[in-house]
Amino acid sequence: MSEKLNIVLFGPPGAGKGTQSTFLIEKYGLVHLSTGDLLRAEIHAETELGKAARELMDAGELVADHIVIGMIKNMMEAHLEAKGFVFDGFPRTRAQAEALDAMLNAKSEPITCMLALEVPEEELVKRLLGRGATSGRSDDQDEHVIRKRIREYEEKTAPLKDYYQAQDKYKGINGVGSIADITTRLVQAIG
Ligand code: AMP
Repeated sequence: MSEKLNIVLFGPPGAGKGTQSTFLIEKYGLVHLSTGDLLRAEIHAETELGKAARELMDAGELVADHIVIGMIKNMMEAHLEAKGFVFDGFPRTRAQAEALDAMLNAKSEPITCMLALEVPEEELVKRLLGRGATSGRSDDQDEHVIRKRIREYEEKTAPLKDYYQAQDKYKGINGVGSIADITTRLVQAIG
């Protein structure tokens, strides 16, 4: 049995994955892998990849699987000593989930669990518009783009619940309440 704690922190945009990741990496000494953050770093550095990704992100669409899978692979190889990872915003498609399993199973360090933050759509839109007013994230400032991202999630990402449920790794978490209460629920679910 692997001693590494590999957590998929799952949920729609605005569910609180980034916020809760901060607590989990600190409490368990894990490495945070957010494909959204990695893509925003590419945009900031004005790389070719960043330029291509920006158009898709601004439209609320997903970036190609091979791009984000390659990023995750590089980061995992750069952190071989990690006690485990919090995957935040990845995987978002079945192809990504299968690639992640293949990478982790090759090292006998499988996903421990998927923690899925559950939040109603109107609450998500409210939170994201609030975040957009202060974060400068262009994809959080336009309600049309926000709703497109939620549709993308429902269509391509939400089915991953079944993928992890079939492995008996899915844990649904109520994502409404204070940040501290939600952290407590996550810690209890990790056990
Ligand atoms: P996030 O910060 O996780 O909300 O991601 C912001 C945007 O980056 C998303 O709306 C997508 O356009 C893109 N993105 C982030 N992670 C992924 C992923 N795993 N697969 C495809 N696109 C992604």
